[in-house]
Amino acid sequence: MSRIVYVNGDYVPEEDAKISVFDRGFLFADGVYEVTSVLDGKLIDFEGHARRLARSLGELEMAAPVTDDELLAIHRELIARNDLTEGMIYLQVTRGAADRDFAYPKDAAPSLVLFTQSKTLADSPVAKTGMRVISIPDQRWARRDIKTVQLLYPSMGKMMAKAAGVDDAWMVEDGFVTEGTSNNAYIVTRDGTIVTRHLTTEILHGITRAAVLRFAKEAQMQVEERPFTIEEAQHAAEAFITSASTFVMPVVEVDGVKVGTGQVGPIATRLREIYLEESRKAAL
Ligand code: PMP
Repeated sequence: MSRIVYVNGDYVPEEDAKISVFDRGFLFADGVYEVTSVLDGKLIDFEGHARRLARSLGELEMAAPVTDDELLAIHRELIARNDLTEGMIYLQVTRGAADRDFAYPKDAAPSLVLFTQSKTLADSPVAKTGMRVISIPDQRWARRDIKTVQLLYPSMGKMMAKAAGVDDAWMVEDGFVTEGTSNNAYIVTRDGTIVTRHLTTEILHGITRAAVLRFAKEAQMQVEERPFTIEEAQHAAEAFITSASTFVMPVVEVDGVKVGTGQVGPIATRLREIYLEESRKAAL
């Protein structure tokens, strides 16, 4: 039997419940959710969930799609329409659909989806036997080497950069730069060595990074793959980033401090030229 699902104001059969491929929940994990349980056809701790939802939305500067009263009415309507006596109601709000850009769109309408799941919760057999667990490292989300669509923090980072009146942000962990919000980060030391963080699970293994380092070595430039600090960047001769869409892009200021002369430097300029020339030659 098909469930009735709530999607942006409509109650529709689940096979007709659709969201745009441009929805930021799909493209950036730019969304929040709640799960409220239902016992005897009634909502458990609805107010707690509504409060946390409001907080999550606030932290992400996301508009609430409906009021708390409307939200309660939608939950109740779904319970009624699906004849739910025991189970859960899943709720998700996303920033909505917009052309893909890390920065938040100015005028997207939030998406709101709710659906029911029927499940025995109170009379769970495990409640009688107890659970067994294993321990695992907490790596939420420490696997930046996987190019996932979990891009909410990079998106927040771009907005922090925008709010500070600059172009982008470099992320720092344990005192060292990992990478840019959507690019790999580099400095050029005063003796002309190109420094960029080594490849681990802490950064994305940039395709442009690999090509640029290869071209740099072929051009007899010195390359060192190691972590560097913001302070080292501020005292460097040059800095730049690389990514598929920016190629090699000079960075002239970090946290309000000019890097080198504060102008685009010769090594970043040369690498950009080489990258464009070689990539055009090899393009398929
Ligand atoms: N780091 C991060 C976090 C990125 O999102 C990107 C771009 N997708 C890069 C580095 C650069 O990778 P590439 O050169 O493959 O575009």
